Amino acid sequence: MKGRLVACPQCGRNVVWDAANRYRPFCSERCRLIDLGAWANENYRIPAPDSKDDFESAPEPGEPPTARNDER
Ligand SMILES: [Zn+2]
Repeated sequence: MKGRLVACPQCGRNVVWDAANRYRPFCSERCRLIDLGAWANENYRIPAPDSKDDFESAPEPGEPPTARNDER
């Protein structure tokens, strides 16, 4: 078995995850470039467990939600 199907993160189309697909996990070079551009503009965020933003936006339990940094 080869050719696992994944959804293109950019357009959601089904893509065959294969060594021959050099743009994986994207369906095409176009989607890959769009995604890279989004990263460069910081429009695209993934929930990283050790993200600094996550720590700042999620107050610890027991800690009063003062000094919030919501200026974005
Ligand atoms: Zn795509």
